[in-house]
Amino acid sequence: MNALNGWEFGDRVLRALGDEIHAVSIETGGIAGRFGADRFDLYCPHGIDHKSLFDRLQNKLNTLSHNVNIRLRMGVMEWQAGLEPVQMFDRARTACSMARGHYAEHLIVFDEEIRDREIFEQRLMNDLRRGLDSYEFEVHYQPQYDIRTDPPKPIGAEALVRWRHPELGLIPPDDFIPLFEQNGQIGILDKYVWQEVARQIARWQDGYNVTVPVAVNLSRVDVFDSELEKTLEDTLRQNGLDHSALKLEVTESAYTENATRVIKVVESLRKSGFKVGMDDFGMGYSSLSMLSSLPVDALKMDGVFIQNIEHDAKDAQLVALILGIADTLKIPVVAEGVETEAQMAFLKNLGCEMVQGFYLSRPLQAPDFERLFFESVKPDDPGTATS
Ligand code: C2E
Ligand code: CA
Ligand code: CA
Repeated sequence: MNALNGWEFGDRVLRALGDEIHAVSIETGGIAGRFGADRFDLYCPHGIDHKSLFDRLQNKLNTLSHNVNIRLRMGVMEWQAGLEPVQMFDRARTACSMARGHYAEHLIVFDEEIRDREIFEQRLMNDLRRGLDSYEFEVHYQPQYDIRTDPPKPIGAEALVRWRHPELGLIPPDDFIPLFEQNGQIGILDKYVWQEVARQIARWQDGYNVTVPVAVNLSRVDVFDSELEKTLEDTLRQNGLDHSALKLEVTESAYTENATRVIKVVESLRKSGFKVGMDDFGMGYSSLSMLSSLPVDALKMDGVFIQNIEHDAKDAQLVALILGIADTLKIPVVAEGVETEAQMAFLKNLGCEMVQGFYLSRPLQAPDFERLFFESVKPDDPGTATS
């Protein structure tokens, strides 16, 4: 807020909010304090209606400016017997931190669901080290197909991590990747995945004399690691691979969040020989005009657009538009999340050459992927055989 509207305006907002919270504490016989730059804690006697309190504070903020939209976030912990005040404030803060990210609400009351989620996340954080040391993380390989031929031909894979937790069972990446990103732990896990994938590609190379190109996911946090390129180069060298073996996927939202920095890193990776694809294309609002100047070797079109192409004319047009522009710019597209024959046919008609999705194959464990891939590849296939 300060960066956009100046310090003076920021001060005015904080003072107004502080005064209002102070007024509430006096009216209700509670206690209030400011505990951070823009964070206030308020203890109120039992029974106060938090929705009207939220509305009162938000309304106060609304009076400060007509053209700046100041959004209040509020977390509530209701009094609970047996908890220390510090624990209650901690939970109110947890609820408040949930009011960003995937929760659209700006007023969150701490409840059992949040408590369970908190315990679950704490558990995952605590177990990460052990999980890595005892090989609980598994890499699954989702085949990618060239659909110009009939039947479609597997040409490589995307590596997707899962956690086979001894007590919690198989945990999908959406449960732990965002968490480790937030807590700065994702780098360790991603390095492990890249190493595991490189070792697997090398094993296939030894066994079949064929290099299977595998795409790995880079978290937005990895992109800011100054050692990134060295780590990737080391991974290739240690496993005797060249740059064509390990393809990199960087999510579109990373490009749009910090474009200058990400573009610099990606340019440098490409100069060294890596192929970098833009993941989740269409979700991060990178403008289509921007695309022509972005350094990318491939676009991964997000599955949400493809899921509705049969029923939603707008999505169908959008997919056609993306494919048309990619074609003009000579950037190959991999369509993700293809679930039906009709979707595949639709894409094929529009000139899309590569797809990935449950219709052709779910992500597979290495031995299953190996069977699928090498049964379809002739030993002297010029496209993939190494010299
Ligand atoms: P993503 O990179 O967009 O990966 C594609 C996701 O779509 C995968 O989910 C895949 O299993 C799923 N998928 C594939 N085909 C279909 C389909 O036909 N229909 C539907 N509904 N879904 C399909 P998954 O494996 O759960 O991974 C989720 C996300 O977690 C990935 O999204 C990626 O962002 C992240 N992720 C996975 N592995 C890694 C990793 O090793 N490192 C990092 N940083 N992120 C990872
Ligand atoms: Ca991906
Ligand atoms: Ca994707």
